[in-house]
Amino acid sequence: MDMRTIQHHVNGNRLAACSGRTHPVFNPATGEQTAAVGLASTDEVDAAVAAARDAFSDWRRTSLAVRTKLMYAFRNLVETHTDELARLLTAEHGKVLADAAGEVARGIENIEYACGLADLLKGSYNSQASTGVDVYSVREPLGVVAGITPFNFPAMVPLWMFPNAVACGNTFVLKPSERDPSAPLLLAELFDQAGFPPGVFNVVNGDKVAVDRLLTHPDIAAVSFVGSTPIARYVYETGTGAGKRVQALGGAKNHMVVLPDADVDLAADAAVSAAYGSAGERCMAVSVVVAVGGVGDPLVGAIQERMGKLSIGPGMDGKSEMGPLITREHRDRVAGYVGAGAEEGATVVVDGRNATFDGDGFFLGVSLLDNVTPDMTVYRDEIFGPVLCVVRADSYQEAVELVEQNPWGNGTAIFTRDGGAARQFQEDADAGMVGVNVPIPVPVGYHSFGGWKQSLFGDTHMYGPEGVHFYTKAKVVTARWPDPAESQVDLGFPRNR
Ligand code: NAD
Repeated sequence: MDMRTIQHHVNGNRLAACSGRTHPVFNPATGEQTAAVGLASTDEVDAAVAAARDAFSDWRRTSLAVRTKLMYAFRNLVETHTDELARLLTAEHGKVLADAAGEVARGIENIEYACGLADLLKGSYNSQASTGVDVYSVREPLGVVAGITPFNFPAMVPLWMFPNAVACGNTFVLKPSERDPSAPLLLAELFDQAGFPPGVFNVVNGDKVAVDRLLTHPDIAAVSFVGSTPIARYVYETGTGAGKRVQALGGAKNHMVVLPDADVDLAADAAVSAAYGSAGERCMAVSVVVAVGGVGDPLVGAIQERMGKLSIGPGMDGKSEMGPLITREHRDRVAGYVGAGAEEGATVVVDGRNATFDGDGFFLGVSLLDNVTPDMTVYRDEIFGPVLCVVRADSYQEAVELVEQNPWGNGTAIFTRDGGAARQFQEDADAGMVGVNVPIPVPVGYHSFGGWKQSLFGDTHMYGPEGVHFYTKAKVVTARWPDPAESQVDLGFPRNR
């Protein structure tokens, strides 16, 4: 039987992939290949950029009223297609349906923010800066903008980018992850159905060849990237080297600090859902619990007890709470870390490699490693799987230093009942997003998302106000008009005031 080939979406139509190169797309729950995605050549990328460039001159002049109406229509279409999107996400990524629907809901938040575009693009005005002189600032679109996104949130991360970019008057070329490309293509169809002109939003599937072309293409003004740290660094350096504006979000190693006074049940619930939800394949997953003082033993016990009750199975099964990993290779790599942790001296409290599953899906059980120290590979590397490390710390100070010394700085959280300690932590935490009794502090759509240190290359966070800033450039107008007394039109000057 012929394997289905996943195409590009350019200028409002499906564009056949013609490079001859493809990448397999799997159903991670069964291990079966379900499709092949076409990997674009530079010519195919050029076709998508040309469509976006042609659409830009009309789109940037389209009124705010029309843009707003279209964005509302898109928002509603995405909402009514939540189930369909969620099923595509589960089929190719493996996450459970409830997680997948949650991903779509978080993406809709970003569309809703973009619906407020008229307010976001207001600019500012000073009358009479000097006598007869007014000064005003406006923000203008950049042109054609590219987005390059990771496998773990195939719908939400693109939605972090293109609604705001398009609302600001740009046109967009998305290069989604080649591992789960179908949900972004459905988003493109819904976008066109909402009434946006062809070419305003395009999807080109591909790998490094496509990314490299986007990073150097003369008609691309800016690049938003989300993915692993080495590629984020590469994208930032190459894109800025080619004169583009770039924001590149990288990997993470998020610490959850639990103080001795914390509610142990609350902290254990949070650790389990934040470490193992979506099989740990979230950039805001908790991967290290820092247990301070005497909380360590009861906390590890409470986490272990909850792990035994987790239901792991196909994402399409409503009873599953955790699905498979994205590929067989990634599953094996993650399993390897459990062995490495044991060899380096960590205590393996729960070994996920012992779990057994029917079939050939990319499943792995959940693991808990205690007494992890900062020199171990399980602490130093981003594992990106269902492996939670516990580091014991004697004091708050030691916990804060761990967060500070970690090369990543995406998110961190504290669990405590002490308001003073929480307030101190929000100041001490060396990370871009901080949770207080919230394990995964992903900001709502009207704030911005971004880490520090190796979790972000560039200075602008994604979506929210910083997203609008990234996708626009400032123009300041200084205007002088004749004195009213000298006006050609009789203004009745001087007037009674
Ligand atoms: P990845 O870096 O492998 O891929 C991301 C994108 O880059 C994909 O579109 C891919 O096709 C492209 N790419 C991969 N290798 C490339 C190369 N050599 N040259 C050019 N382009 C290349 O990341 P992933 O495995 O898809 O996603 C997981 C990673 O993303 C994790 O590290 C995770 O922490 C990170 N992530 C970060 C955030 C954040 O907000 N900071 C959010 C989600 C995921």
